[in-house]
Order: sequence, then C-alpha cells, then structure tokens
Amino acid sequence: MRLILLAVGLATTVPALAEPMALQCGDVFDARSARLVGARTIVTTADGRIGQVLPGNVAVPGARAVNLAGHTCMPGWIDLHVHMASQSGPRSYEERFRLDDADFALRAVGYAEKTLLAGFTTVRDLGGEVALKLRDAVNAGLVKGPRIYAAGKSIATTGGHADPTNGINSELSFVLGTPGPTEGVVNGPDDARQAVRQRYKDGSDVIKITATGGVLSYAKSGDAPQFMVDEVRAVVETAKDYGYTVAAHAHGREGIRRAVEGGVTSIEHGTYMDDEIIALMKKHGTWYVPTITAGRFVAEKAKVPGYFPEIVRPKAERIGAQIQDTFAKAYKAGVKIAFGTDMGVGPHGDNALEFGYMVDGGMPAAEALQAATFRGAQVLGVSDLGQLEPGFRADVVAVAGNPLADISLTRKVAFVMKDGVVYREK
Ligand SMILES: [Zn+2]
Repeated sequence: MRLILLAVGLATTVPALAEPMALQCGDVFDARSARLVGARTIVTTADGRIGQVLPGNVAVPGARAVNLAGHTCMPGWIDLHVHMASQSGPRSYEERFRLDDADFALRAVGYAEKTLLAGFTTVRDLGGEVALKLRDAVNAGLVKGPRIYAAGKSIATTGGHADPTNGINSELSFVLGTPGPTEGVVNGPDDARQAVRQRYKDGSDVIKITATGGVLSYAKSGDAPQFMVDEVRAVVETAKDYGYTVAAHAHGREGIRRAVEGGVTSIEHGTYMDDEIIALMKKHGTWYVPTITAGRFVAEKAKVPGYFPEIVRPKAERIGAQIQDTFAKAYKAGVKIAFGTDMGVGPHGDNALEFGYMVDGGMPAAEALQAATFRGAQVLGVSDLGQLEPGFRADVVAVAGNPLADISLTRKVAFVMKDGVVYREK
C-alpha cells in the first residue's frame, strides 16, 4: 500500500521552459579572472544553457533579444550558507513548539522567491529538513526559487548547536527520547558514520556539522568545541564515500582547529580564528565562508531588549561583532574565501548586503563578486555554474551601472535568469 502511494505521489510537473534568448549586455563580469570584459551578447538555449558568448551587442536570429545596455551582466550569484525554511525573530524559540513543518514549508516558498529575485540563483542550505523538499519543489517547477544544494539535518553532538532537543522541558524530553544519529546527534565515530549514511538516505546533497557551539541555540557556550577530531574524521571519510563535501559551523579556535585537521571542506563563521588557525587552513586548503551579515544582524538585535533569550544575548553581542574583523584578517592573510550570509538569521532577500560588508573588510568588489560566483561553484564542486561561458547553465544577473565601482548596486538587481528562464526583468 505504501509503495503504491509513493508511486502516485511522484511529481509530473515540468519546470518552466526556456526559450532561446540573446542578452545584449553593456558589460560582462568574467568570474574566472574577476574582470569586466566589455559588451557581449550572451545567447541562451532552450535547454537552459549558454550556447554562445558573442562580442558586442548583436541580434541573433531565432533568439529573443533582451536589451541590457548600460548594465553589467554577471553569473547568477551563489550563497553558500542559508536556511531557507526559517527566519529568526523574537518568537523563533516558541514557534518551534507551535508550528508544523508545513508552516515552515509555506514560509519557505516566499523566502525562496525573494532570494531568487535578489539575484541568488543557487544556494547551499546548511541545516533543515524542509529544504530537501523545497529543493525538489523548485526543481519540479512548483515553486519559484534558487537551485538548492541541501544538507538536510545538521549533525551535532549531545547538547550541541544542532541538537534538536536543546532547551525543552523534562516532560517533552522524556516523550521525545534521546536523539541519535537518525536525528543528527552523534557521540563517537560509529554514530558519525551512521549519521552521514542517514543523510544519504534522506537525500542530502552536502553534509553539515556543528563543530562548536552557536549563537542562536538555547545553550550557554557559543564557541566551545563540540566534536572530537576522530568524530570529524569519521564524518569526512564517510561523506567521501557518497561524494559529499562537509561544511563545518565553527566559532571557537579549538573547534575550528579540529574541523580543519579532520578534513572538512569549509569553515562557516570562523569567528575566533587566529594566525595559527589561518596558517592551518591555508595548509589544508580549507575554504572560509564568513557570513558577516549574520554576525552584524545578531550583534544589532542583541541591543534590543527581549529580542533574544538571556542565554543567547551575550553570545550574539560578542560573536556577532567579531566576524567582520576576522574576515578582514583572513582576507589579508590569503585564506580562500567564498560567499555566504547565513540568511534565515537575517531576512531572506537581503543576501547582497554581504558584498558590501566584504568590501568594508578590505576585499576589492571584483573579488567579492568572484567569491559569489566562480569560487562558490568551486566549493560546491560543480563544473557548470559560476561562469558565463558556453556549456554553463544560463544563470545570469544584471545590475544597472558598474558594481565594481559601486558594490551597493548589487542590492538593486534589474535582471535575473535561472536555467535560461527570466524571473526578473527591470
Ligand atoms: Zn547557519
């Protein structure tokens, strides 16, 4: 009976169809070299890819022309750290007891559209089961949203940042039982292997661990290490079997060190990295995804009385303010940096704020744009995203003027195409 129901439930909807188009761009950002290359006509195909990139602005027979004179075309932006199913606020802590997954899923539909219309055609969702289903709904053409690479449930240790039973009363704890690898809570390498395999079973695209405490969880420490190196290694080795990369949430120095030694792909937040950790990350080739936007957002909200529970507020105040400085230090030292905001902490759709914060931290605008395109695709390990070249997916975002001269233009997106389909035109 169950199997029959599953078969009936398969979506038959097809994604929106692309038509051949000729995007006549006043200027084009080459994400590989991080340079503007002048006027080009980007010809997209009915299967949602880039067919040709022609010099100048020309008409192409059989392709609908889009006039983007005076605009700069860039590859669709990639945000490597979002949580599509939630948006934090003073009520978040009670809502998890009142709302169902359906409520979060319906909210996520709106967040997904805002994200796409802001120019972010691809996101990596680092935590939350709803994102797995949202991804499928977007791919089936049921929801307008970015292409999603989803982690599903984050993997934590007992009482750790992503233990789903933190902060609940003893009666509820008794009813729910002690969470284990299936729920994403591990203690020891065997559990860690099982948790990764469970994520494979769930349909995850990437693995996320919470290597240290975090700001918004109902727990005291935001930076204490929460994984042993052998646990990180077990996650990373098992993840490799399934072709997964591993993203590690980490604020404190020791937790970052263990995650890097354990072989994770990227450190998220990285708040208290020092010179020694920076050197270690460079040695291991570990990526850094700073999420300055989230840091600034929580530091700001920590000043509002009652916005956060008292166990959370001091963490938000301290950790939030630190990330911008850490970013500046890491950039100067030459750590590999890719773009991520942790939206869902801050409001979805404001993702481009991060570009400005990166520039504030000393990174040239061209490199900030490269971090959200060419480099984002490198972290994802995909070869047809993040560049405007023949054969790549036709993901294009355009702004009026030159964003290399004024990075705030990234907040006024004029044109968005994903897979050859136009979602925003002025
Ligand atoms: Zn996050």
